[in-house]
Amino acid sequence: MSLDAAPPLYPLFADLRGRTALVVGGGGVARRKAASLLQSGARVVVGAPELEPTLSAWALEGRIVHRRGRFRPSWLDDAWLAIAATDEVAVNREVAAAAEARRIWVNVVDDAALSRFQVPARVERGPLQIAISSGGGAPMLARLLRERLETQLDDSWSALATLLARQRGRIRARWPDPGARRRAFARLLAGPLQGLLRRRRDREAELLLDAELAPDGPTSAAPAGSVALVGAGPGDPGLLTLRALRLLNEADVILHDRLVGDGVLALARRDAELVSVGKQAGDHRTAQERIHALMIDHARAGRRVVRLKGGDPFVFGRGGEELEALHAHGIGYEVVPGITAAVACAAYAGVPLTHRDHAQSVRLVTAHCSASLDTLDWPALAQERQTLAVYMGVAMLDTLRTRLVGEGRDPATPFALVENGSRPEQRVVTGTLHELPALARRHAVRSPALLILGEVAALAETLHWFGDAPLSAASAVLRSPHAGAGGPVPAPGTPEPDRALERAA
Ligand code: SAH
Repeated sequence: MSLDAAPPLYPLFADLRGRTALVVGGGGVARRKAASLLQSGARVVVGAPELEPTLSAWALEGRIVHRRGRFRPSWLDDAWLAIAATDEVAVNREVAAAAEARRIWVNVVDDAALSRFQVPARVERGPLQIAISSGGGAPMLARLLRERLETQLDDSWSALATLLARQRGRIRARWPDPGARRRAFARLLAGPLQGLLRRRRDREAELLLDAELAPDGPTSAAPAGSVALVGAGPGDPGLLTLRALRLLNEADVILHDRLVGDGVLALARRDAELVSVGKQAGDHRTAQERIHALMIDHARAGRRVVRLKGGDPFVFGRGGEELEALHAHGIGYEVVPGITAAVACAAYAGVPLTHRDHAQSVRLVTAHCSASLDTLDWPALAQERQTLAVYMGVAMLDTLRTRLVGEGRDPATPFALVENGSRPEQRVVTGTLHELPALARRHAVRSPALLILGEVAALAETLHWFGDAPLSAASAVLRSPHAGAGGPVPAPGTPEPDRALERAA
């Protein structure tokens, strides 16, 4: 029969509780098959001359029954299904033939032709299961699809399925008509129920469902929206968390900073509304209030809002203020951490932030304007054997050097200045604290850039692995991508203002 003429397999979910399943084979594959059969409550019999250690232990504990020796058809006597998982083709054939003769469902691992049933790739969320089959023809495809679904479905699906299963009787009684039931479900799932479960607020979720199920409960009330404050990481989309990706896939509205790269935004749901809420220099206060208002209005309109911020929302990201605003207005929220610039830039420049030999602590510092610099504890910052990670500091490098050296930090302390960390256009400039402002100017370093100062920074010279080698005092002058690209090259002695980042601050 040609491939496209083959009818599709008939899918089924079998109740194996207390029923015997035979696995022939005693190696690693047999162990995996036995494990998933045990998980479904089957009485598992494993037949093989020898068992690998875990199977042996299970046999000793009585979790499985071991039939020792070469396969005999009588092993099938009380079996409902059988799996042949030996590496001997002849034995697998024998098992398949004997099972077929007794009309027992049989699977031969990796042999679709000999198999009468196939084990699908599975995504499990508690009682909820998605089984994927390629008909045995392209198991890799099924596996890839499984990976994709694994990343998209978080654990709240398990809690949701359990909760709904527990209330099944009441749900059917409340909406006896299947059409009404379907509509009610759609409304429930669009609402805050699942978000509550994701935030482990099980009790509130139960109460919410209870209210829905009350005979006079809401039937058409607008669902309440919520806001997720999500860290987008430093730019490389691969550094997003799974949860961030899931929320981007579900969002109705995404309010993002300018710092968030296109690569990350490209992962959002196609029909999500993308709103750039980058701030204008000199207009911080109103801009921040406008962001609060946008979040609140969209959430009140029942939308799922993602407030997407560069790096981590709670590290120099004003995430605290945004949550306070949401809290004050009674809007539900969750927070998804992101990889902050210090962590990402250090990793991508080959600079361990701590090192047994060089640095026992790390400080995250912002140097975004003179006023913020005045509030810093300079004697503490100037101490040795620690690493400073300075955010928003490009325009303040002269002051930084003067104050640190003034408080006794060695002018020979190494630094690594990382521009566009983790992005394809990343550049790293290295040198000593003494040369810092001059080198930054020479290489026209621009925002976003993160300064790592401390003994560990010297390791960038040897440990760098991403993109070009670090530019140092010895590097040829002006390997800046900005030079000659039409962009302004700052005159020597003029610090490049960190404008883009003033906006993001
Ligand atoms: N919440 C963000 C920080 C926002 S403040 C976080 O956790 O990373 C903005 C500053 O972060 C920039 O001025 C720069 O110092 C730093 N930054 C952010 N992304 C960066 C990147 N890809 N490379 C270098 N520095 C970055």
